[in-house]
Amino acid sequence: MIIKNVRILGGEPVSIRIDDGVIAEVAPGLDAPGAFDGGGAIALPGLVDLHTHLREPGREDAETVQTGTQSAARGGYTAVHAMANTSPVADTAGVVEQVWRLGREHGHCDVHPVGAVTVGLEGRQLAELGAMADSAARVRVFSDDGKCVDDAVLMRRALEYVKAFDGVVAQHAQEPRLTAGAQMNEGVVSGRLGLTGWPAVAEEAIIARDCLLAAHVGSRLHVCHVSTAGSVEIIRWAKSKGWNVTAEVTPHHLLLTDGLVEESPVGAYNPIYKVNPPLRTRADVEALRAALADGTIDIVATDHAPHPVEDKETEWPAAAMGMVGLETALSVVQEAMIETGLLDWAGVAQRMSALPARIGRLPAQGRPLEAGEPANIMVYDPSGRTQVEPSAFASKSRNTPYEGMTLPGRVVATFLRGRPTVLEGKLV
Ligand SMILES: [Zn+2]
Repeated sequence: MIIKNVRILGGEPVSIRIDDGVIAEVAPGLDAPGAFDGGGAIALPGLVDLHTHLREPGREDAETVQTGTQSAARGGYTAVHAMANTSPVADTAGVVEQVWRLGREHGHCDVHPVGAVTVGLEGRQLAELGAMADSAARVRVFSDDGKCVDDAVLMRRALEYVKAFDGVVAQHAQEPRLTAGAQMNEGVVSGRLGLTGWPAVAEEAIIARDCLLAAHVGSRLHVCHVSTAGSVEIIRWAKSKGWNVTAEVTPHHLLLTDGLVEESPVGAYNPIYKVNPPLRTRADVEALRAALADGTIDIVATDHAPHPVEDKETEWPAAAMGMVGLETALSVVQEAMIETGLLDWAGVAQRMSALPARIGRLPAQGRPLEAGEPANIMVYDPSGRTQVEPSAFASKSRNTPYEGMTLPGRVVATFLRGRPTVLEGKLV
């Protein structure tokens, strides 16, 4: 198997010869009958998502392991971490093994279950973290995502516990009492619209506390979907101390602002823009971009959150929070980070593949495209712009905030251990 005429990290055109799922040779001019012609597009290591909601078990009407990983493959991903807020919650070895097995059977990319931190995501009692780590799913990332582990004692215990198996606690930072009934970012726009505001301090207070806790017990903390300029400053401070803190930002927080709730191509009060954490201000977006560029924020994670139409197309206060994101992630990052000159393709590969694989402790993902490495590869053509067409998504859900927008680039092909999962933009 040969992939020819691709530019690794945007470099000179080369061919990649794959043998038995492993890159055997990278050199110019290799060719063979049936070689895949990348047409001069960019080759990156297969993308890795640390934050995906696959919804199975329990909400197969929104997404399944099969459709979610098809969506991931179409976005250039070769591995995703499946969040624990399923039904039943992934808080036991049995449930994480079920998700892991579904991934092995139906996955168009690798599926790594995230284990819940607390039983039932209820924030009262630690889940069986050790049993999930020891299970066939080998869980290393633990999160109550969707809910915050707001009890400081429980958070401290979780951070202590995961040290035994080199795990990490991924916190959804949201002080619940400061966000009771919150509908959107607290600011000028929420004031004008009369929607209950979601103050930045609700996120920042938890991040500051958790950085201090992680330092105190000498453990690894990962901060999910950072959304405010203040959060960036706190994380920068924690890193300057040498503490083991990593952070992610979503594509939508790199591009969209709370102004869309008031005025957008799809009208005012359109719940397509309702998300947790909420879209913030232009100043926050600028701070998040700068933080991703300088490494204060380590990675991009999608927070792909599929919802069926009936949960989204309703009045704002009743609508579900979240957006799908796997199939548009790299285009949005190109728009926000490449077109602005803030990152090059090597920088994108670092933040969307190598570092998420490292945080999730996935040794065979996020590797450089070199001889001897696993052939997890995505091929991306950054030229041209196309209108986002939700009906073309592989995801079962359509709740994208980019409908009708034009975005740059397209995923040409994805290879999982040398086997194509996407060719010419279509699922194999
Ligand atoms: Zn979350």
